[in-house]
Amino acid sequence: MGAGTADGGGAIGRITNARLADGRHVDISLVDGTISAVDPAGRRGSGESGGPGRGRDGSSAGELDVGGWLLLPAMAEPHAHLDKALTADLVPNPAGDLLGAIEAWVAASAAGRIDRDGIVDRAVTAMEMLAVRGVTAVRTHVNVGEGYGASAVEAVHEARDRIGGLLAVQTVGLVQSPLTGDAGAGNRVALEQAIAAGVGLVGGCPHLEPDGPAMLDYVVGVAAEVGLPLDLHVDETLEPSMLTLRDYALRVIDRGFANGAAASHCVSLGMQPPEVQHEVAALVAEAGIAVFALPQTNLFLQSRGIATGPPRGLTAVDALLDAGATVGAGGDNVQDPFNLVGRSDPLETAALMVMAGHRSPEVAYDMVSNAPRRAMGLAPVTFQPGDPADFVAIDAPTLRAAIADAPMSRRTIRAGRLVASCDQTTTIHR
Ligand SMILES: [Zn+2]
Repeated sequence: MGAGTADGGGAIGRITNARLADGRHVDISLVDGTISAVDPAGRRGSGESGGPGRGRDGSSAGELDVGGWLLLPAMAEPHAHLDKALTADLVPNPAGDLLGAIEAWVAASAAGRIDRDGIVDRAVTAMEMLAVRGVTAVRTHVNVGEGYGASAVEAVHEARDRIGGLLAVQTVGLVQSPLTGDAGAGNRVALEQAIAAGVGLVGGCPHLEPDGPAMLDYVVGVAAEVGLPLDLHVDETLEPSMLTLRDYALRVIDRGFANGAAASHCVSLGMQPPEVQHEVAALVAEAGIAVFALPQTNLFLQSRGIATGPPRGLTAVDALLDAGATVGAGGDNVQDPFNLVGRSDPLETAALMVMAGHRSPEVAYDMVSNAPRRAMGLAPVTFQPGDPADFVAIDAPTLRAAIADAPMSRRTIRAGRLVASCDQTTTIHR
């Protein structure tokens, strides 16, 4: 079976011969980047089966025949680090843990091994890797701090300009610690520089602060003042006594902070007894904080040196979902000192949410597509008229099989335009 390869960039009027995850075989009409109609395949004419070959040059203008492939909501990557992506060989981390990764990054930066052109080039490559796998929106944290200010933000914004409309890019100013007290003065200035440089969200790491509650007061105040949402790295540790997520939720509730809030990692919530998990999860849901589980990097960095029963490092997904919180899942680090491997494929993340997070394939896929879309302020794709025409077509028989096999025969459609194509060729030689 094969999918057409319409000219990239042109608006698609209709996607034909698509199978949805619920088994329907459909044609989808598009107008101005949104779905205008979903019909049984072939109802509106020219519905001949696609099959191999057709569409290599034969998809009619404005029509994309996906040859019976599975058509899914496009994926969204809610937590990336594009300024660090693909530096695993440039920035070794022999210790293999979080502190080792942070120290390796600081040392490489001080030695001048991380320059602006390199960040731009690698970020472009990382975004292309995401796009070809079916991602149409990415949120990236970008280091901001004393001594280098917002220079990495500017580099990532240059990369964003270079990739044009390939995918939507949100940048978070990941301000270094400490942020409070005399020692934090330089980092506070750097955060101001990042805001001036146009970051879309305010970030930071309360669990790395000498005074986490004071830091939370500060960032909630800054975000409220400048009208930006928050997305914080929260409790990236197995140590249960560290639980800044509760402090974060209480501040969002008490201050009526309504710009949007997210918490990434939340590892230590998974180490709490059930009653604490449920109490904090209820606060998170009440605060409207979206939580992003990040299985790759947490599995890589956490539990080093624990020989017996090493924890998985995942947040308390059950308690958060039970409380009604939005839970997405992201890839976090890709081939850098925080995670040596990773392939920028949310289907890898979804597979880990099945294997390590014990979700069904359907829930796991929602965690890498519509759940993060909602948390990122993007409308979900539910195959109803009016929905955004953001899809990934993939050569797989079912959603479960797509997650399991992650075939690289894919078409990525963003806002009704074909933005990336990939075809996997397999030959068995007998
Ligand atoms: Zn991160």
